[in-house]
Amino acid sequence: LTPSITNGSPGNGATLVDALITAMAEVIPSRSGLSAAVSLGAALDHRNGAVYGSAPLWGASEGVVKFKDLLEGRRPDVRWHVVNDVTAGLLAYRNRHPELSGEKVLFVTVSSGIAARTFDPQTASIPLDAAGLQGEIGHLPSTRGFNTPESQRCACGAADHIAAYSSGPGIKRLAEAWRDRDIDSWRRSVLGAPDTSPVTFEQAFSNALDGGDRVAVEILRTAVVPFADVLTYALTLDPSLDRIVLSGGVIDAIGGHYVTAVKERMQAAGVFYTSEHEPEWAVGKLTIAERSDGAGLIGAGLFAAEASFTSATRAMGSVSR
Ligand SMILES: [Zn+2]
Repeated sequence: LTPSITNGSPGNGATLVDALITAMAEVIPSRSGLSAAVSLGAALDHRNGAVYGSAPLWGASEGVVKFKDLLEGRRPDVRWHVVNDVTAGLLAYRNRHPELSGEKVLFVTVSSGIAARTFDPQTASIPLDAAGLQGEIGHLPSTRGFNTPESQRCACGAADHIAAYSSGPGIKRLAEAWRDRDIDSWRRSVLGAPDTSPVTFEQAFSNALDGGDRVAVEILRTAVVPFADVLTYALTLDPSLDRIVLSGGVIDAIGGHYVTAVKERMQAAGVFYTSEHEPEWAVGKLTIAERSDGAGLIGAGLFAAEASFTSATRAMGSVSR
């Protein structure tokens, strides 16, 4: 189990970082010439393995954590590779789908947060910005919420980011807002039915969608709007994107319903003129990734294997595969 604030591990940010470093350093056998790859669910600088922040892991106060440096300090005999879990997910997806090797793929995870990575087949890499990042779309301004009663706070602390609406916790908060606003329709919905068995909100929401519950469908429609809009922006700015792959916990649970709602929005308020004249062009690119629980580990391994063959200068500019 990963020591973290989220799962209630004891200690503050600094001691949780230390506990994770210790756990990872101890699990590697003492043998010379070993490499180790780590997949981490945090925004990190892919050039040097420094984590910009991870509120779910360590709380908001920890600042930049030089994660790879700390691992190297603890186990200098090991060659460490630190990769973000979305990047790892994209590498694993491409590995499972060799037929897509020439395609420009936008890989998105929708779970407790939202993030995306684009693989560029021209350079065979995941290009990075000046901070060693790419595709943190969950923390872009949302097209919903601003200065309205439905305004929601993101896990990062800012108001009305995309993840505040379209992520798992975002959907749940929108449902709670519905309940507080319109208790009568809530009570008539599957979501507001008196508990006959101990189901979580996630299970109840999934069941409600399967049954075509009006309230659940309407909540999901509202939730996906900013997410669908950012995909429309992406396709407007870069029509060379061949495929948009959705993955992550929310997609594993309610992917079919989620994609239906996203497509609806992308066709109702889509790429200018194109959504009218070529209605299938944008939504036809959407696909759901098959469930793969080991994708983070597989992708991190692929990242490490590639890094061993790639010159240091190239690795500074991009995440290559
Ligand atoms: Zn945010």
